[in-house]
Amino acid sequence: MAHYVHEVKRAEGSMKTLENVEELAIYASACCNEEVLFERNDRFSLCPACERFCFWLYVEPVVSWIDLQEQELFTA
Ligand SMILES: [Zn+2]
Repeated sequence: MAHYVHEVKRAEGSMKTLENVEELAIYASACCNEEVLFERNDRFSLCPACERFCFWLYVEPVVSWIDLQEQELFTA
C-alpha cells in the first residue's frame, strides 16, 4: 500500500495519553495493541482495553477525503 509506506517513519515517535492528536489516523496502544481512530485536535485517551495511561503508536493514516465522499453519499 503506497499510502502506508511514506507514513511509516512517523511510527518512531510515540504519543501519550492526553497529548493532542496532530493527525487523523489510526493509532494502537503500546500496552494492549488496541487500535483506535483519533481525529486531529482530539486528545489521546486512556487505553480502551486496560484503562491506563499509555503510549500510542501510529498505525496508519485515514484518508479523509474518502470519508467525506461517503458522508455525502449517505446524507444526499
Ligand atoms: Zn492497555
